Amino acid sequence: MNKKFESGELVLATHNPGKVREIADLLGSYVGKIYSAGELGLSEPEETGSTFEANAILKAKAAAQESGYVALADDSGLAVNALGGQPGIYSARWAGPEKDFQAAMQKVQDELDDSEDRSAAFICVLALALPDGHVETFEGRVEGTLTWPPRGDKGFGYDPIFVPNGYDITFGEMDPTEKHKISHRADAFQKFDRFTKSA
Ligand code: IMP
Repeated sequence: MNKKFESGELVLATHNPGKVREIADLLGSYVGKIYSAGELGLSEPEETGSTFEANAILKAKAAAQESGYVALADDSGLAVNALGGQPGIYSARWAGPEKDFQAAMQKVQDELDDSEDRSAAFICVLALALPDGHVETFEGRVEGTLTWPPRGDKGFGYDPIFVPNGYDITFGEMDPTEKHKISHRADAFQKFDRFTKSA
């Protein structure tokens, strides 16, 4: 076990069971026991930051402070260049309370209108917070272009309109194991991995 996780315990600052599973899988070899914020009954802070980094930090810090464990949080989304980086931190919110990503993708398409620049990136920031207030962040990204109409049903969120550079299929059409090798989340975790190994 790496000395940064000597206690062998870590809390994932998310109440989303899907994310807990995905992150726990990626972390498996580093930590002995992984708790989720939900399971410890931690409060869910409002995402009031104006960047992915600020939101990841505020979630990780709140969980570390409240639980006394090392905490890991992530914040992610789609940044469209011709829209000045939108929907960005509002990616989930563009889908509304119904989590209607068909509507969110349509909104992206409508806002792009006939823009020639259809480049975009998925971004993920991981924040690792220690109970003493120390924080480290790791940013991952994958660049691509947006296609229309949406294609594929293997992913989630904006996957059906995102074609990663070097491919001609969308994330929605891609096998999840392939997506997880090149995704923004994988990139952020590789940086986290290098950090833990450099301890
Ligand atoms: P978060 O839970 O605040 O990080 O919100 C992330 C939002 O960004 C999700 O609800 C999706 O809309 C979008 N998003 C993040 N990662 C992906 C991805 O890998 N594929 C598709 N959409 C994503």
